[in-house]
Amino acid sequence: MSESKIFGIDLGTTNSCISVLDNKKPRVIPVDGSGVVPSVISVLGDEILVGRRAKNRAVAFPEQSVRSVKRKMGTDKAIVIGEKSYSPEGISAMILRFLCDEAARLEGHEVSRAVITVPAYFSDAQRKAAIEAGKLAGLSVERIINEPTAAALFYDHVNISSGDIGRSWKHALVYDLGGGTFDVSVLRMSEIIEVLASTGDTRLGGDDFDRCIVDHFLSVIRANGGPDISEFTPAIARLSAVAEQAKIDLSVRGTVTIEEANIPTPDGSGCTISTEVSRNEVEELSSHLLERTVDFVRKALDEAKLHASDIDKVLLVGGMTRMPVISQRLSDLFGDASMPAVDPDLSVAYGAAIQGGIINGENLEQILLDVTSHTLSLGAINPYTDALTCAPIIPRNTQIPATRARLFWTVADNQKHVELEIYQGESELPEENTLIGHTKLDLAKAEANSPVEVKYSYDLNGIIHLTAEHKGFSKKTEVYFDSRNPEEDRSQTLAEDLADELEMPRKSNEPINFVIHRARLLLDGMSEGPRKTAFAGLVERYESALLEDSDDVDGFEDDLLSAMDEL
Ligand code: AMP
Repeated sequence: MSESKIFGIDLGTTNSCISVLDNKKPRVIPVDGSGVVPSVISVLGDEILVGRRAKNRAVAFPEQSVRSVKRKMGTDKAIVIGEKSYSPEGISAMILRFLCDEAARLEGHEVSRAVITVPAYFSDAQRKAAIEAGKLAGLSVERIINEPTAAALFYDHVNISSGDIGRSWKHALVYDLGGGTFDVSVLRMSEIIEVLASTGDTRLGGDDFDRCIVDHFLSVIRANGGPDISEFTPAIARLSAVAEQAKIDLSVRGTVTIEEANIPTPDGSGCTISTEVSRNEVEELSSHLLERTVDFVRKALDEAKLHASDIDKVLLVGGMTRMPVISQRLSDLFGDASMPAVDPDLSVAYGAAIQGGIINGENLEQILLDVTSHTLSLGAINPYTDALTCAPIIPRNTQIPATRARLFWTVADNQKHVELEIYQGESELPEENTLIGHTKLDLAKAEANSPVEVKYSYDLNGIIHLTAEHKGFSKKTEVYFDSRNPEEDRSQTLAEDLADELEMPRKSNEPINFVIHRARLLLDGMSEGPRKTAFAGLVERYESALLEDSDDVDGFEDDLLSAMDEL
């Protein structure tokens, strides 16, 4: 095993958790008592509280506190507390720093390297924000992995540890409903854990269920002659806390009594609520949210080309899956599939620690292949309609790391440059997709219809890299774009910033080669035999051609990519 331990961090919307691998077993570090640390910060003078203390304070001082910051990751939305303004990454970094400092105190040694989990459906900008938060917290972020995949790694690990080395179960569906996000992934479990499809919504979670209950409370208050406090933040903060507790209590009881006095009102007089809520009522109030998750489940099955009856295990992840109606609804859908009882709050962090162990060279007999959750395309003029359309380059659910290229054609003689607009999403229409970057490539003087090759790569963190080449006129260049400011062409400034930041040893302008990354990963996972020898030969041939800058590189790359597709 190399270097210091790599810790696994589940940086959740509602709660976060840090874990580590000990003798090949993941263990949660009991930061803040239980290890499940509220992802809340609260500013108290010069002091910043994080975790349980911050959560308690946030009920009385919501305007000095921040919850659910994960929902703002990847945006430029500043969070203002008093005179100070914080970025979402800055707030997340405070939570990460708290987890690491406390873990270091409890463990007695430094915590400097981490695998951080993100929702599978996180975009490029959101993933970069997670890495940035890690860096701001002083961490070396060794890998970003998808939360449902981390959970599957953990369940697989439990199985192997209990002797089921051959994986008697073949297909699993991970249903991950946390405080702020919903993810669903379908996986094939063999010697390699393969994600077949992944989808979800980064704006659907427990907070939305709580909001339905809060709306109900607001109408009860109004019906009893109370004021309309729906726009008053302190009142909403208080009612949200009451709603969340009611929802949690209703997971084990049929009804709860709500008796709250002194609910803040704008005029300072306060109001009260006295009512009963039943489990059935809450299920009805939030049934549209549950059905939205079921729609995503169906979509994931479709994309994996499987039926519900093909799924052997449904893995429940995220605190919200404790709500009984969720497992009931999934039982209706999946019939015979079993739902293993493993703590839904901790499995993501456990999986992250396992991934940390794998990166650190521990032999855990687990290999993971994840997929992209969005189609990546380039905005291009359709020559038949003259309309801007999205030309797909990497389809969704392609295994990562992945590199794919596509040729485009210039439209004018001596065209000076091409605008490169990078879109994420499934539609042909740009306006229905998310623009994640805008940059341009300068061209050499050439006639119209000269070819421009645009190559996208998704790296192991799910981050996108772009190279482009005016074929026959220029060398391949890595083109930079800023997914946080997709409307702006920031290619020049970013190129300068990123050139300093890139840590991989490489010549300037030489793109990072993700084909090699993926090939090596596959090679590591293959059992000895003629197939492996043949594949190793292709990898070696391609690597030598790259080193020698040989003309055969492209042909060898194609051979290798075809061999990888067939594996
Ligand atoms: P996570 O993001 O996985 O930590 O999940 C947090 C969400 O799970 C929050 O919305 C919690 O209110 C919710 N939650 C936690 N425990 C329960 C429970 N016993 N019943 C229902 N919801 C719960």
